[in-house]
Amino acid sequence: MSITPLMPVYPRCDVRPVRGEHCHLISEDGRRFLDFASGIAVNALGHSHAGLIGAIQKQAETLMHVSNLYGSPQGEHLAQRLVDLTFADTVFFTNSGAEAVECAIKTARAYHQHAGDTSRYELITFNNAFHGRTMATISASSQDKMHKGFMPLLPGFKYVDFNDLAGAEAAIGPNTAGFLVEPIQGEGGIRIADEAFLRGLRALCDKHDLMLVLDEVQSGVGRAGTLYAYEQFGIEPDIMATAKGIGGGFPLGACLATEKAARGMTAGTHGSTYGGNPLAMAAAEAVLDVVADEAFLADVRTKGDRLRARIEQFIGNYPELFESVRGRGLFIGIKLKVEPRPFVGHMRDNHGLLTASAGDGVVRVLPPLVIDETHIDEFMDKLSAAAASYDVVQPA
Ligand SMILES: *Cc1c(COP(=O)(O)O)cnc(C)c1O
Repeated sequence: MSITPLMPVYPRCDVRPVRGEHCHLISEDGRRFLDFASGIAVNALGHSHAGLIGAIQKQAETLMHVSNLYGSPQGEHLAQRLVDLTFADTVFFTNSGAEAVECAIKTARAYHQHAGDTSRYELITFNNAFHGRTMATISASSQDKMHKGFMPLLPGFKYVDFNDLAGAEAAIGPNTAGFLVEPIQGEGGIRIADEAFLRGLRALCDKHDLMLVLDEVQSGVGRAGTLYAYEQFGIEPDIMATAKGIGGGFPLGACLATEKAARGMTAGTHGSTYGGNPLAMAAAEAVLDVVADEAFLADVRTKGDRLRARIEQFIGNYPELFESVRGRGLFIGIKLKVEPRPFVGHMRDNHGLLTASAGDGVVRVLPPLVIDETHIDEFMDKLSAAAASYDVVQPA
């Protein structure tokens, strides 16, 4: 037998982390890495955060799981907190980002179909988007590489170019239920929506009674310098998916909606065995205790501005390697002039620095939100050493 016990769907690298210490990871063979990938924007509080560990430990000793057949004081408390902090009136808890997007898709369809309009089921989505790996969420993405081998796709998605408002308007038809969009594309390469684009989608939704569904699975929970990125665009969605950072490493997602948008999500229409279990709720409460604080978020913006400015100033030294830097808060992308994946590997294997590659030739810089100046210094030292030792093969 040649297949590995772990289904070989990931091209895994040689680093095998076994311990986390604040903003560093330690591998099985004893190497120490500066973790500016954060498990892909998940470890918002870094590793081994005392508050998060304490909350999980305490809840694990008290009550780990009960069915959603019973009342949930833990779920009610966290949902109320999210309602108070956002546009939303109601929350459904999931165990992952894809499930949160699934619930968002169902909520948008049910909005129309609950009112008897069964013709409106289609969501307009955007090229280079990433929404997850379930059948519905790969169908929502235009990327062929995610579809191959898994046909047929789920019907009801139409793709247009990101930031193309005219294209989005032209795509509206009798079957359109709404738009599904990342305000800042993560896997797509830290591509930021134009404010006019998101405002325009909001206006189209208001005009045509469509649902504006935001996928903030990667951009949310302080990553972009506000609790949710939409706050920076002067709009509010009808429905939003959140996950990644919200559990700080504990698997948790949520679909948030206004009362109006959730009108189709009545008893018996949706569910999850684990979704919203007390252990997950405790983890998220501990994360929000830190992140949902204006002073903390202001600090994320300050650190993000400083880190971006330092990268910006530095990359001019290697014009054959780097093109530009972009992002919001600590959601940063460095656009390379070479393939990002080998450079990410070089930084990791030869300089102990973890980052994540993305689309559009971008290296994502996603530090824990709790970094301080010393981590920024360490990052710049490692980036600088990595650039100096990298053999740029000139593109033909
Ligand atoms: C990661 C991600 C998802 C999928 O989340 P999973 O927890 O991997 O299912 C969906 N949307 C966006 C924008 C993401 O970054």
